[in-house]
Amino acid sequence: MDVGFIGLGIMGRPMAAHLLDAGHRLFLYDINPVAEDLTAKGGVACQSAAEVAGKADVIITMVPDTPHVEAALFGPNGVAKGLSSGKIVVDMSSIAPIETKRFASEINKLGCDYLDAPVSGGEVGAKAASLTIMVGGPEEAFAKVKPLFELMGKNITLVGGNGDGQTTKVANQIIVALTIEAVAEALLFAAKAGADPAKVRQALMGGFASSKILELHGERMIKRNFEPGFRIELHQKDLNLALQGARSLNLALPNTASTQQLFNACVAQGGARWDHSGLVRILETMTGFEIGQNADAISGGD
Ligand code: NAD
Repeated sequence: MDVGFIGLGIMGRPMAAHLLDAGHRLFLYDINPVAEDLTAKGGVACQSAAEVAGKADVIITMVPDTPHVEAALFGPNGVAKGLSSGKIVVDMSSIAPIETKRFASEINKLGCDYLDAPVSGGEVGAKAASLTIMVGGPEEAFAKVKPLFELMGKNITLVGGNGDGQTTKVANQIIVALTIEAVAEALLFAAKAGADPAKVRQALMGGFASSKILELHGERMIKRNFEPGFRIELHQKDLNLALQGARSLNLALPNTASTQQLFNACVAQGGARWDHSGLVRILETMTGFEIGQNADAISGGD
């Protein structure tokens, strides 16, 4: 298939590499220079998103946020300028469900289909081609693109119509954020109580509290590795979508709101680009104690 890939950052770059490895012809665009490993595999670097859309049958976007998708699709040299009828636009970024419905209807007016197909699984999942992909859009377009999804992910679900993929991703981000907060509180509690947090994590891994977050982000918290991964500023964007949705749906999401406050505090401490597991650092600041610090050395603390 002739595939376009727009947005070749932490996620897009390994995802595009899997499509190239499977023998698809790829037309690539990013506002930054395209990585050489992709052109070395045969990917063609284009000058604009419009050029990508002119050359490819399926055009994938993987950019940070709603305004970036809007710019890539409808900007001066955007995808819409290069589309002809019968093509499929697939947005794999995590963005606003409501704006997604608007983008889909604009693309439909050009005689093309639109799929929203955000992912979960992070950089690790992108590299291992094991992403979870949650899709919204027409069944026929989903069936055509599914072989490409299968090269990038494992659990691939058509949830419903346009917007439903993004709604699913917001739900995912609520669970991930609140679980990071829970793991951070638990490991901090254990460490301050004098237990070895690495042993605590290991002990909990097989039980009911086990999760991917405990496994991967718990390890990051213990090893003090806050290089992203998934940046706090991106998770703030996702929780903002949840909280805006809650406001318009008259829905209470109290713990999503409080976790967003903790992300806000991280950013205030210079942490916009920390991995989201770095949320633990703000809890550590509150308590004046770091995981990994020797609990015996702390006096008082009641
Ligand atoms: P990133 O910032 O590493 O990459 C985004 C890329 O898009 C950059 O290379 C940037 O130059 C490019 N870009 C921005 N605007 C553009 C435009 N108008 N045209 C062309 N290129 C443009 O971000 P990322 O971590 O790869 O995340 C991408 C999306 O995937 C986000 O919506 C994020 O929420 C989502 N996501 C990320 C992760 C993760 O762990 N990093 C996991 C799941 C989902």
